[in-house]
Amino acid sequence: RYQKPGGASRIANPSKVEDIAKAHQALKDAFSLGATRSYAWRINQLKGILSLVEEKEAELFQAYKLDLGKSQGEWFLEKNSILGEVKHTIAHLRELMQPESRSTPLWMQPASTYIVREPLGTVLIIGPYNYPANLILCPLAAAFSAGCNAMVKPSEQMPATADFFAKYLPIYLDQTAVTLGAVPETTALLECKWDRILFTGSERVAQIIEKKVAGTLTPLCFELGGKSPTVVDSSANLTVAARRIVQGKFINCGATCIAPDYILVESKVKAALIEKLTKQVEIFYSSDPQTSGDYGRVLNSVHLKRLQGMVDDAVKSGAKVECGGTQVVEDRFMAPTILSGVRPDSAVMKEEIFGPILPILEVSSVDEAVDFITSRPKPLASYIFSSKNRSINKIRDGVSSGSMCVNDATVQVLSPDIPFGGVGPSGMGAYHGREGFLLFSHSKSIYDHDTMTDGLTFMRYPPFNGFKKRT
Ligand code: NAD
Repeated sequence: RYQKPGGASRIANPSKVEDIAKAHQALKDAFSLGATRSYAWRINQLKGILSLVEEKEAELFQAYKLDLGKSQGEWFLEKNSILGEVKHTIAHLRELMQPESRSTPLWMQPASTYIVREPLGTVLIIGPYNYPANLILCPLAAAFSAGCNAMVKPSEQMPATADFFAKYLPIYLDQTAVTLGAVPETTALLECKWDRILFTGSERVAQIIEKKVAGTLTPLCFELGGKSPTVVDSSANLTVAARRIVQGKFINCGATCIAPDYILVESKVKAALIEKLTKQVEIFYSSDPQTSGDYGRVLNSVHLKRLQGMVDDAVKSGAKVECGGTQVVEDRFMAPTILSGVRPDSAVMKEEIFGPILPILEVSSVDEAVDFITSRPKPLASYIFSSKNRSINKIRDGVSSGSMCVNDATVQVLSPDIPFGGVGPSGMGAYHGREGFLLFSHSKSIYDHDTMTDGLTFMRYPPFNGFKKRT
């Protein structure tokens, strides 16, 4: 049974920048008392996350609606992704905490060799604006599973959701504090020495963080973004491909780190795929997506302007708007937009889109698609829609990406039994399930040697000149 933390084990949120170092110290002091190490503490924290999401769901959803115009259906998916991850961790925690036996070389026997996992300590979790509940609570679950306590910094771009966390995390979770704010507050947080930082956000801010903590030997995990390519070859089931691509692309109004960023389609099926994609947009969101209760909103007018600039630039260089392309700024609305005939050097192909624009480029073969993708930075995810193993293997073996789906897109993140993370500029380190536990643990190697047989290992002791008695 879950027990809410008592008064003494609560850590107060810092309410001003000047309080941040004090809150950090309070967390470190609490950690040093050792309570977080026990199985019971960890389980209680994980159950606390479940209780929070279940008991305060209506309030959290309300905050989501205010901040991001989230629909009930999309919130349902996010909620279940959090519950699934936490329940999986609860189910496997005892087994994860067991020491792991390793082999001992013959000449080092008799002995036992094994690994114990130690909690790293007091950690900092910095969240982005999209999926703010998942991307705070799942990293927290990983930290708790390893026996760490944590400071959380939600995105200031989601003020209602951030206030929700500040209000409830210290009530539901032991030794967990929340810092509200933006750059000055995060900068003050980075002046403290954390035992790990897990940052989810943009490559630009990751570089700022890396510079800020340089020289402190702080272990960093960066969960970043990038341009995730989606290849569709001529053998693909186009109906299913269109349905899954449109869902993965336009959920959360395109603000998903692993959303299909652009499509590379084999020439033969380009026209058929475009027809199915545009039809699918209408099936999901009607012919007037602004009135659809299932379609989200762009974060703010700055992002709307950035996205419109991408569409305008693509059109200027010859791209065709297959659907959408329109905005209603007062409503933070941008229609689901599909562009064909996009030039590889246009603005929409230069940076992560992170909005409801889907550019389509034509390739003559899967080999050409591999060359195109590998000439660019390594993406967070890659997707292939095909019924041919040859095509699938070409992408699997020829493209390096954080994760990959075959005949689907974005749903890999929902599986708690596989690591979630990027590679190269799309991230470093991974979490979820076992990898989350390991991320926040130190794997301590133990060699436990028998003493009765010391005489058998006399060769290790000096003097080394022959058979003199060594003891
Ligand atoms: P962001 O990098 O702008 O902000 C993320 C966090 O960094 C926020 O909490 C913010 O307050 C903080 N921050 C901003 N400027 C800072 C500075 N100068 N110094 C210190 N901290 C600072 O990211 P965002 O716009 O919120 O999120 C979008 C990005 O996140 C996209 O690139 C997306 O791909 C990526 N993302 C990645 C994942 C993943 O799991 N890999 C998930 C979601 C989003």
